[in-house]
Amino acid sequence: MSDSAAAASSSWDPASWRSKPIKQAPAYPDPSKLTSAVDELNRLPPIVHPNEIQRLKAHLRDVAAGKAFLLQGGDCAELFDYCEQNAIESKIKLLLQMSLVLIWGSGKRIVRIGRMAGQYAKPRSSPTEIVDGKEIPSFRGDILNGFHVDERELDPQRLVKAYHYSAATLNYIRTSIASGIADLHRSLDWGLGHVQDPELKAKYSAIASSIQSTLRFLKAIESSQSGLDSVELFTSHEGLLLEYEQALTRLMENSSVPAAPSAAPRKAAAYYDTSAHFLWIGDRTRQIDHAHVEFFRGIANPIGVKVGPSTPLADILDLLRTLNPDREPGKVTLITRYGAGKVRDLLPQHIRAVEDSEYRATVVWQCDPMHGNTLSTPTGIKTRRFSDIYAELQDTLRIHKEQGSHLGGLHLELTGDAVTECLGGSEGLVEDDLSTNYTSFCDPRLNEKQALELAFLVADHLAQ
Ligand code: PEP
Ligand code: MN
Repeated sequence: MSDSAAAASSSWDPASWRSKPIKQAPAYPDPSKLTSAVDELNRLPPIVHPNEIQRLKAHLRDVAAGKAFLLQGGDCAELFDYCEQNAIESKIKLLLQMSLVLIWGSGKRIVRIGRMAGQYAKPRSSPTEIVDGKEIPSFRGDILNGFHVDERELDPQRLVKAYHYSAATLNYIRTSIASGIADLHRSLDWGLGHVQDPELKAKYSAIASSIQSTLRFLKAIESSQSGLDSVELFTSHEGLLLEYEQALTRLMENSSVPAAPSAAPRKAAAYYDTSAHFLWIGDRTRQIDHAHVEFFRGIANPIGVKVGPSTPLADILDLLRTLNPDREPGKVTLITRYGAGKVRDLLPQHIRAVEDSEYRATVVWQCDPMHGNTLSTPTGIKTRRFSDIYAELQDTLRIHKEQGSHLGGLHLELTGDAVTECLGGSEGLVEDDLSTNYTSFCDPRLNEKQALELAFLVADHLAQ
């Protein structure tokens, strides 16, 4: 272990990150307002429960072992305005449609995590930007400031608002699922709302019909159908704003994990970050001796770390040793995001560093083919080429196979709306089309059709 990793293994509490250097930290104009917002958060109940967090952890253990596959997706920057029936339903349906395709291809259970119900804080490369010739603070996500140019000052009351919007979004996710939105018997009703392409529609409908005949068959032979009428959908966000994450981190017991199948449920107290089931450390805040890694090493949630071209090779093992000293399988998801041009150079050495160490077979390798492939058009529109996203994913699948590891999951920025934010795909979107329906306030997302196309690619690969 390097000196910095060893230094990190000293005592921890939910506030110990405060003594470390920090990146992307907000400087609030009035600290007393921050104190009262945090006091309010401290009193509010957990948004998610440790039992659910432990259930996700158990699923991710299966993903690390190659028995299940992880699908994680949602907006780059979730807005408070997206806390609305249609926006939530269309995202749930898209994740379900993609799951169906992936189940069919892989024969594996799919673990679903939304970038939803809390993905409100954005790291920015520059603290300011020029709008209409004027330099103003950058938009840092609804939890910090507003997109409108008059709302760019940081407002601590937004922390409390973020809590309420997260809770309301998760409430609607729970109630939709409890009311049968995810019933596999209804998979033909999930829409394909905006997808017009007859070939893709036919491919999806064939899978959905075939699943329905299987369900009828199972019913006919009175096989147990438990689990087919409902699914789990977990929530996640980047754990960027540590004031917020600390306030929702609680010492709690979980009663859901039996130590052995025959044993009584274990009740172990641990610090759970109850703002979401899964949190990840972004590409800009994963310095080993800094505040974010310090905070994350103490929480019992399963966590992710973005890994990219700027990650020093030696940091990968130091991060695992700091964040997962007990080597729990599935505790850490490495979310790789190199870009189509760099994945072939970097991924093999990163896989070898982990798989030739004591962390062999403990991590979930997840591909984020979005964040290494962002570009600007000559007119300054932020976009991504579907062909680059597809190429990085295809190379990632192949490299894992060659290296004897396996791709455990997919991390995507997507929306159920018919947006025109990424170029290409079978609709062949070109630069002039981008303005048709570009609604992202941050990074460009895949639309429903492009997202399904990627699901088919992975399903076909996993079926081989
Ligand atoms: C993101 O996931 O939206 C993001 C900012 O990614 P990264 O930290 O990998 O750049
Ligand atoms: Mn993004």
